[in-house]
Amino acid sequence: IIRVRNLEKSFGKLHVLRGIDLDVKEGEKLVIIGPSGSGKSTLLRCLNMLEVPTKGTIEFAGEVITDPQADLPRIRKDIGMVFQSFNLFPHKNVLENITMALVIVKKMEQAKAEELALSLLEKVGLSDKARNYPAQLSGGQQQRVAIARALAMQPKVMLFDEPTSALDPEMVGEVLEVMGALAREGMTMVVVTHEMKFAREIGDRVIFMDEGVIVEEGTPEQIFTEPRNPRTRSFLTRVM
Ligand code: ATP
Ligand code: MG
Repeated sequence: IIRVRNLEKSFGKLHVLRGIDLDVKEGEKLVIIGPSGSGKSTLLRCLNMLEVPTKGTIEFAGEVITDPQADLPRIRKDIGMVFQSFNLFPHKNVLENITMALVIVKKMEQAKAEELALSLLEKVGLSDKARNYPAQLSGGQQQRVAIARALAMQPKVMLFDEPTSALDPEMVGEVLEVMGALAREGMTMVVVTHEMKFAREIGDRVIFMDEGVIVEEGTPEQIFTEPRNPRTRSFLTRVM
């Protein structure tokens, strides 16, 4: 469903992505790991064209989205994204945070949007928080709202950029649980994370990035137990 070819991205003189080739199949769970500054977030942001690549092509669901003529607003509806910082609208309550895009972007009727939002809140275990404001929720709860909001658009793919790294340790589990459930339902997922246990449980494939290139890729089992590349090995001994 995603095909990336020779992707490069520079910020001025800084050459952040240096030729990435990547395919993600429908239903696949791809985990991306790598040191800080290796370009993981930049890659993820290129996948929905939040960053415009300097070179290369990205196809999504058969469409070349790096084409200047691509209808990005339409394409982005199919790509859900969850960030490290939850990015909820602080002056909207939980229900409004989820329904807003449905009503404005998807032109859904308010009542229908609320119905969908409530069912998603139930799914992420927050039925009782619909009328709360983000500041009244814990970090884990806010992140679950962010996931529900992304799911409301019924995306074909979900991108997660270190969704648990801003959370207190006791809240990591509840977010990973929601993501795990989503994985089991068959969602196509690209997840940047340092949660190795989670990566092993849900990942079909792990990519190790360093300095803007994919250094190594394999099954979680293979990457975590017998990494071939010395850079992968030294990274893993530092984080595991
Ligand atoms: P982390 O694990 O810390 O999140 P990362 O692998 O996600 O790191 P990126 O955020 O993709 O790394 O950043 C890669 C490099 O690109 C860094 O050197 C960063 O400073 C730089 N960079 C990222 N975004 C921009 C930007 N908008 N303008 C200039 N430089 C940027
Ligand atoms: Mg990052």
